[in-house]
Amino acid sequence: MTSRNHQLFERAQQTIPGGVNSPVRAFRAVGGTPRFITRAAGPYFWDADDKKYIDYIGSWGPMILGHSHPAVVAAVQAAAATGMSYGAPTEAEIEMAELLCACLPSLEMVRLVSSGTEATMSAIRLARGFTGRHAIVKFEGCYHGHADSLLVKAGSGLLTFGNPTSAGVPPEFAQHTRVLAYNDPTQLETLFAEQGNQLACVIIEPIAGNMNLIRPNPDYMQRLRALCDEYGVVLIFDEVMTGFRVGPQGAQGHYGIRPDLTTLGKIIGGGMPVGAFGGRADIMQAIAPLGSVYQAGTLSGNPVAVAAGLTTLKLLQAPGFYAQLSQQTQSLINGLQSLAGKYGIAFSADAVGGMFGLYFSAQIPTTLAAVQASDIARFNRFFHLMLDGGVYFAPSAYEAGFVSIQHDEAVIAQTLTLAEQAFATLA
Ligand code: PLP
Repeated sequence: MTSRNHQLFERAQQTIPGGVNSPVRAFRAVGGTPRFITRAAGPYFWDADDKKYIDYIGSWGPMILGHSHPAVVAAVQAAAATGMSYGAPTEAEIEMAELLCACLPSLEMVRLVSSGTEATMSAIRLARGFTGRHAIVKFEGCYHGHADSLLVKAGSGLLTFGNPTSAGVPPEFAQHTRVLAYNDPTQLETLFAEQGNQLACVIIEPIAGNMNLIRPNPDYMQRLRALCDEYGVVLIFDEVMTGFRVGPQGAQGHYGIRPDLTTLGKIIGGGMPVGAFGGRADIMQAIAPLGSVYQAGTLSGNPVAVAAGLTTLKLLQAPGFYAQLSQQTQSLINGLQSLAGKYGIAFSADAVGGMFGLYFSAQIPTTLAAVQASDIARFNRFFHLMLDGGVYFAPSAYEAGFVSIQHDEAVIAQTLTLAEQAFATLA
């Protein structure tokens, strides 16, 4: 193969481990050569061979407005022209904090960081400092970034590569992490009954997107909230993916549950590195400089990144934005399901807001085991058929997909035309 993508991949592997700066980009699960992207606009991007794709990853979530939105680009250019970073506070950071707190009622105070990983890592430390307890609870298949104590039975790339617990995490670190099966009420009750008073926090993806898309049972979520209240355990909703994605108030708005702390990332940076954690003021006041839990960042609240995030968040406030986004995402999954049915393929799909899951199984999975039991080899073939035709889905059956507001009916229709050919080939 002499394509420019191939040449770049060969070159990249000489100096970058696996040729990529984040593992799932390497196409290891699906095979083949990763595409090196040269430019993007609206719902599309172009690779190094100038091939155009409809992009259903959107940088793994952030690009909800589509790529290169003119208002976001202008805000970034204007901010960059007045200084890249000051290491001192700015008014835009206050505006961003005020907007986040206004959008998410559970946020009484919030602090900005530079990634989702930093947000979850800091929220965990804060919960431990606040409660004086060490043990934390996470769920199998949920991914919360790459901090040591969270890389235990994690989702996303770790599941894709079949090694859900990372090497390099000392057992002493992981021993404080309790892992439960998602959506399993018995395990939850048993753990709280036995250890509830020792738990600092529970961290959960309140709609899971790192083992494909899995919805929690609403009763299960209510019970989780009640148990955390009963035992004084900090409930952390990791909304790095779902925040401003599944609806204007994230998964907490969707389920009507108020977490104690929330972590955010992806969309709130509009494509630039911004994360955040926030929640109850009494907990947030335990952070330095007010309290004794240390947390800091040279580039936290970076003015250029905040300009992108703030502009994005303001545009999401447009009336009807989420209704339109949901409708576009529903058209995609409804179309895919009916085409798969036409060709007799065991396939299902689900969506919340602008986030979707595609499964090569007859039923929508509600557990990680059900995703693992789906026809992953068939997904991989589907992925390549779509990629060859110019539609870029996530290169793993364990990842969710994302629709932007620029994925209009024409773009969805084009996707479905290609999908019909792919299903016909797979039948
Ligand atoms: N939490 C969730 C739910 C995520 O999906 C991710 C990333 O995909 C993270 C945390 C980590 O965020 P980042 O990659 O910005 O460090």
